[in-house]
Amino acid sequence: MVMDEFQLINKIKQNTYHQSNIQKGIGDDAAVFDQPNDSVVTAVDLFVENIHFTRETLSPWQIGYKALTANLSDIAAMGATPSYYLVAIVIPNSWTSSEIADIFSGMKSLAQKYSIDLIGGDTVSGERFTLSITIIGHVKNERARYRHLAKDNDIVFVTGTLGNSQAGLYLPQNKNLRHLDKGDYFIKQLQEPTPRVNFSRALSLIPRMALNDISDGIANEAAEIAEASKVSIHLFEQSIPTNDALKQFSIKQSFKWVYFGGEDYELIGTVSKEYWSKVVEIAEKTNTPIKKVGFVKENKAGKVLLYQSRQHRPMILNKQGFTHLR
Ligand code: ADP
Ligand code: MG
Repeated sequence: MVMDEFQLINKIKQNTYHQSNIQKGIGDDAAVFDQPNDSVVTAVDLFVENIHFTRETLSPWQIGYKALTANLSDIAAMGATPSYYLVAIVIPNSWTSSEIADIFSGMKSLAQKYSIDLIGGDTVSGERFTLSITIIGHVKNERARYRHLAKDNDIVFVTGTLGNSQAGLYLPQNKNLRHLDKGDYFIKQLQEPTPRVNFSRALSLIPRMALNDISDGIANEAAEIAEASKVSIHLFEQSIPTNDALKQFSIKQSFKWVYFGGEDYELIGTVSKEYWSKVVEIAEKTNTPIKKVGFVKENKAGKVLLYQSRQHRPMILNKQGFTHLR
């Protein structure tokens, strides 16, 4: 990269901040902000070229956008409100300064949407492009949405539709398929998914919920809740929300994408029946598609069961695959 670190920092530095708690953002040895009276929620993610993305699938703008989406999605999965982010970046010489600026503007578009601020980071040149974002948010005390909070008889729900992102990854690698109906939609879902921040933070009046974001497929995420909560999660295949256009692919493929695919950045949650109508109302208010997909039963084994039809016994969904119940 031609631009030096000093120029880069000057370029990405915000002139004003959305968050009034910031005492010092970019420009000193460390950032300083005053802590709100809530629980502080923080997460960090790595985004490494040719492991998490390739330059064929994402533009520089989308790299920034998607990396910050992954962090925002983690904050949403805790029921929290995001406030600040820090960006550590390793830049190979082959990247131009305008490509790097595009990465930061991809992040900035989300930062503006959610009123969060870039308050620091680190920049070095190196062999492999790597982007690591640290995000900081907050949630009212006792309102964090832990995986261990699912309880007997809870309703299990999912936002959005599942499997789109993996369809979007598959399509460009099979160019003869690009004419398929909704092909561009699937690709866009891979490149620019929406983190469910507005929905999740609006749920704060609900006393107890378990939430997980679907970054590794619903089977994995449901299993994490089931294990942490010592319950079984029962899912109905007919209720799992998918886009109609997914039917164009083989059943085997779409099944894999929906249950074990990644990067949909939707939410799976469990909530008591008492609060279900409230959750639906909040979903409507925040323009979030939501669907009831199953229920919770107390069970120490922590398994996820998928009912494919009334006649058959359920299938056990494991983290990495599935087996049929005998
Ligand atoms: P130091 O030598 O104290 O580590 P740097 O020169 O690395 O300082 O950074 C100067 C300022 O710019 C700091 O406030 C730092 O947080 C910020 N900064 C550096 N790189 C980035 C980046 N990639 N994104 C956001 N802020 C950055
Ligand atoms: Mg530094």
